[in-house]
Parts: sequence; C-alpha cells; structure tokens
Amino acid sequence: MRNPSTLKGGGLEKVLYTLNTARKMGVTASAKALTANNACKACGLGMGGQRGGMTNEQGLFPSVCNKSVQAQSTDIQPEIPRAIFNHPLSELQQLDGYQVEHLGRLNTPLYKTAGADRLEPISWDQALAIARERFVHCVPERFFAYASGRSSMEAGFILQLLARAKGTNNVNNCSYFCHQATGVALTQAVGSGTASVQLDDLDHCDTVILAGANPASNHPRLIHKLRAVRERGGRVIVINPMKEPGLVRFANPKSLRSLATGGDAIATDYLQPKTGSDLWLFAGLAKTVLHLKKENTAFLHDHCENADAYCQWLDAISWQTIERHTGLAEADIQSIGEAYSESDRCIFAWGMGLTHHQHGVQTLEALVNLCLLRGQVGKAGAGLLPLRGHSNVQGMGSIGVKPLLSPDVMAKLEQQLGIAAPGTDGMDTMACLRAAHAGSIDMALIMGGNLLEAAPATDWAKVALERVGFKLYLTTTLNRGHLHACDQSEQLILPVCARDEEQQPTTQESMFSFVRLSDGGIHRLNNVKPEVDILAALGESLPDGASFTRLKNHQTLRATIAETIAELEPLADIDQTKTEFHIPGRHLNRPHFPTGNGRARFCISPLPDEHDATTARRFRLMTARSEGQFNTIVYEQKDSYRGMDHRRVILMNADDMRAQGLRGGQKISLQSDQGQVTGFEVYAFDLPRGCLFGYYPETNPLVGLNIDPRSKTPAYKSVLVDIQPEVI
Ligand code: SF4
Repeated sequence: MRNPSTLKGGGLEKVLYTLNTARKMGVTASAKALTANNACKACGLGMGGQRGGMTNEQGLFPSVCNKSVQAQSTDIQPEIPRAIFNHPLSELQQLDGYQVEHLGRLNTPLYKTAGADRLEPISWDQALAIARERFVHCVPERFFAYASGRSSMEAGFILQLLARAKGTNNVNNCSYFCHQATGVALTQAVGSGTASVQLDDLDHCDTVILAGANPASNHPRLIHKLRAVRERGGRVIVINPMKEPGLVRFANPKSLRSLATGGDAIATDYLQPKTGSDLWLFAGLAKTVLHLKKENTAFLHDHCENADAYCQWLDAISWQTIERHTGLAEADIQSIGEAYSESDRCIFAWGMGLTHHQHGVQTLEALVNLCLLRGQVGKAGAGLLPLRGHSNVQGMGSIGVKPLLSPDVMAKLEQQLGIAAPGTDGMDTMACLRAAHAGSIDMALIMGGNLLEAAPATDWAKVALERVGFKLYLTTTLNRGHLHACDQSEQLILPVCARDEEQQPTTQESMFSFVRLSDGGIHRLNNVKPEVDILAALGESLPDGASFTRLKNHQTLRATIAETIAELEPLADIDQTKTEFHIPGRHLNRPHFPTGNGRARFCISPLPDEHDATTARRFRLMTARSEGQFNTIVYEQKDSYRGMDHRRVILMNADDMRAQGLRGGQKISLQSDQGQVTGFEVYAFDLPRGCLFGYYPETNPLVGLNIDPRSKTPAYKSVLVDIQPEVI
C-alpha cells in the first residue's frame, strides 16, 4: 500500500500507463481504434461518434481517457488460442477475472452439454441450430433475457422484441444493478428519469454537488469539467464516505503545470457522511436553506406541487437525528447548506453511492427535493445529472430492454410488427434470478455483461444460474460468469463483434441523452457475428418470425424504432444525415416539467428504519470498483488511485483498526448474514468510523438479497458485516 498522502488522480503515471497500453495494442491498431467514428466503449459520459473518435459533442478534441484506451485494449487482443479449450472447465475455473479477460477475444462458438467438463468449439451452423431449437421449445414464462450497456440500440431493440414475440416481458438490463432508483425517483418528481442537463450546462454552473461517485476513476473526463468550475471561481462540493484522492487532487495529463505541481485541487469542500446516510444529509442541507430563507418561493409557487408538505416533513426531522445518522456535525452540514444557498446555478451529480441501498429511491427523492427547493432544475446551467456507468446503458432503457413498456409503444409494436402484448408482467433482474434459483427458468439469453459476478450473494447467484437449464451468452471476451454456474447445465457462448467491428452502423445513447452513430467496419476477427444477426436468426425461428428477417438491415431496424418510440424518431435516417442528436424532451432548461401538469413534485416517503439501528453486526461495508476496473472487468490488479497493489483488501477507519487491535496488512475474514469471505488484508483509509470498503465483485458474496422495494436494486453499499482477524 502506498502512502495515502502521495495519492492523487491522473498524473504522469496514468499517461505512461495509457501510452504503454496503446503500445501493447500496436500503434497503428490503437490509433485506428481510437480515431474511427465510433462511440467510446467505456463510460456513459460519451465521446466519439461522427465527429471523430476522440471528440465530444461540444467538438472538443482530444476527449479521450485511460478508461477508453483500456476498453479498446480488450477488443484489440488476438483470439483465444484453441488449445485453451483442451483444458477441462474445472481448470479454467481456477483463473481469476483478470486472467480470464486476458485470454484474448472469443472467436468461435463454444458449447457445453449438461454435466460435460469442456467448452467445445463448434461451427456457427451447429450453434445457431442449438440456439433456435432451445428458444422455440422454451415456455415463454420460463425464459428471460438480460443485457448490459455494451450492446447497441439496434441489438437492444431486437432483443426486447424477441422476448415479447416469444410471449414474455421477462427482459431487463443491468440498470437494475445500478441506476434504477434514479429513474424511479426522477420520473415521479420531474417527469423524466434521465439527466435534466446536457454537457454544455456544466460550463455554465457555479456549483457542482457530487455525491456517491468517483468520476476520477469512472468518468475521467468529467474531472476536467469539475476543474473548470473551480477555475471560474465556482465550488465543487464532494459528498462521499471515502476521501477519494482523485477527487481531492487530479493531475491533468495535458497540463505540464498540473503534472509538475502534483495536480489541481478538485473539491472545494468534502463531506464524509456514514455510508448510506445521504438521505439525512440532504434533509439537513434543505433545513439550512429554509432556515436561511433561501428557498425559491416563486419557483415553488409557480412550478411545484407538494412543497408545503415537504417543508413540514423537514421540520419534523431533528438535527439530532441527522447528526446521529450521518456522523457529521450540524455546523459542518450548515456550512455546506449556506454554500448551496449562495449558488445561482447548481448541478447535482451522483453515482451508485446513492442508489445501492434499500432506500435508494428515497435518497434520490431527498436529493431532488433539495434541488427543487432552490429552483435548481428547469433552467440552463443547473439540474440533475446521474452519472451512468456503461456507454449505452441508458440507451438500453430507451429502446425497451425493460420489463414494462408504455402502452403506446406496445400498441405500435402490435401495429408495426404484429407482436401482441404478453399477458403477464415482466420480471426485473433480481426477480429473474430468484425464479432461476427456484428452478423456474429453463432458458436465459444473456447479452454482454457478467451477470454472475454483477449479482449480489455470489454463491447464491451461482446456484440460481446453474439451475437455468440452457444459457445462451453473446459476448466479445470470456469472463468468469461464462466458466462458472454451468457444471450441471447446458450452455452456448457466441462470439460477437465489438462496437467498432459491426458490419453496419449502430447507435448509442450517452448519459446526456445524446445519441451517437458508430460506423463500425473494423475487421479484426474472422468468426464473430453482429448481435442483431444472431437475435434475428432466433426470431426467424418463431411461428410469425418473418419480420425478423428484414430487421437484419439496421436501417430498416432504426426506421422501425423511429415509428415505434416517438422520442427516437430522428433515428429514422441518421445513417444518411449523420446527424447525431439529443433525445427531445429530456433537457429541462425551462421550468416546465413533463409530469402531466407541467409541475415538478416534491416526493416524500416515510423515513427508512433506523439506519444504524442496533445490530449484531458492527460494520457497514460498501462494495465499489477500482481505478483499474470497468464494471466487472478487471484491467489491472492494482488500484493506483487508492494506493492498493491488489484487490483482496478491506479499507477501514484507522481508529476502528486500533480499537479492533488490527495492524495494516493483517489478514481478516468478513461475515455477513449472506456469506463469508476470507484472506483479505486490512488497511487504514480515510473513512468514517463503522464503515468499510471492499472491491466489487470480490466482496459480493457478502451482499444480501435484500433490495430496494421500489427500484429492485440490491444494497451493494450497505452490507452489515463482522470482521475477524485470521490466525496464521
Ligand atoms: S470519460 Fe467515459 S466516454 Fe469519455 S473517453 Fe473516458 S471512458 Fe470514454
């Protein structure tokens, strides 16, 4: 572990790492991949597309970062040597996530019968025949489809169509494991579940309140926007239990001065509430606004409803309660409340630190209420900005990869394609896994991602997926999810084109609701297929499957989307016009909200049970990603931004360590109500007392099956655990 005082984000080390990664990929291959007209494959901030591979929607070049280079490095790998598949599965299961990812690109369909101990390379004809046969004979309600945000809007649309043509609404995407709480809360409060701002708004705000997120690692180019807020005299208020070095100082690789001086300050203020207590913190900030009489009375009167009830609700929450839950002093919260009260244009940005709790939706309601109180949404340079993880995860929701479609979209699907609405409600991701665990799922179609390791309660999830009779995976590389949970079940893994290898253009939607067109066209492997072709081939096998044949043409597919989903109408001719666009109706830059009556709504829910109620378990663990990681993909074992050399570590408050008689590097085990993990090294880190940090997915076996009842999202960042020193 490195000395925490020397840690920062960015810096020369990152520049060298990026150059080294590019060198390993080959200068020509990496230059081609990074400059081609394709959307960045990594985070949801968005970059690339028709303006060029390293240009953002404001025309800024080069808008590239370490994460985007890492994502390219995976796709540029040579194919997995065939000799690997001579090894029994039981041997491959010994590999860790990093090793599996670095085997190379998958360039052959792999098939495994139930009970076999090998993944056998087979031909595409064989593979598609098996897939079709299983799909046709599967009972609709015993099937589910799941997608990550890696795939295109086109593949997402045809995936959900396939499920509905089959007769089920069991189709969902990885947002149930990340930002679903955001969508639920924002939709009811302001009528749109996505960001109310565009990238440009970040250039006009005077304050950013950044809560429960670490963009230094996960959305690196956002850091430049935060730094710019500082440079024009604004404030960056960070709310995060962890003192993230990359949010304290970040060395801008493009600035020699920044590199030489050890980086620029990012946060003006840094509040460290206890894990999961943001709801009470936002209430405290709102109380301060009211106390200072800095609420926007005209906005509340003209454009909101339920404001009076909210103020009464706030009144009933005592400062004592807020201090107890957050672990912060009233004066410290008030000081930030005063800063917020002075802001003319404030943007609230947040990540999964707010959503990964059983009260995720309530937390987001509290954040939106705080925003509404001062009228900080519905005007330029202010608003709500959920930081989305994968580059097209938002697009997956927009295109209908979700259990519930609006009645008008479903009606149009019936008109256009003759697909009748399935008769039963669809299941979210956890409900699908529960059904699988109960033995009620015969087939799962999993497009991208690593469902096993993204799920909570890894051992339980392994049993659930093992009980799925037939799993069909579409993927560019192998991951541990493909190698486990299949000892006694049948599975087929199909290799697909990466975004920039697609044979026809595809589209992706960023977290600013900006839809990009990716040209594709790069040829790397000779035996991979576009996802749309595979899904359409499955659709053709259905009794009324003829319409799937014409949807293999992406232009026809996009025209169908445009006719079905009103807000995506500009997709119809995007491949001719090359005009990328913001989805209309989502940028809330005037105080009129798509809620039906034009008013924003204060949403109040009963406060959750005592956050730190007496419990037998003494610590609250949050699971999170490292700097060398993207979602479940591990690119490097070390976490340079937190000074960790490997991932089997638990970070802990230094006083807690002393109280427990622990020394740095000591081995500990952790126990939750769900499971146990052993052999983790404990290190001191700047965290509140009672809070622990561990890497995801290594600590996922501890995460329970308890979900937020409204968003259906597991509480990945609120796991009650005990720790035990290990005897050597
Ligand atoms: S910030 Fe996100 S979208 Fe932008 S280049 Fe980096 S990974 Fe890609």
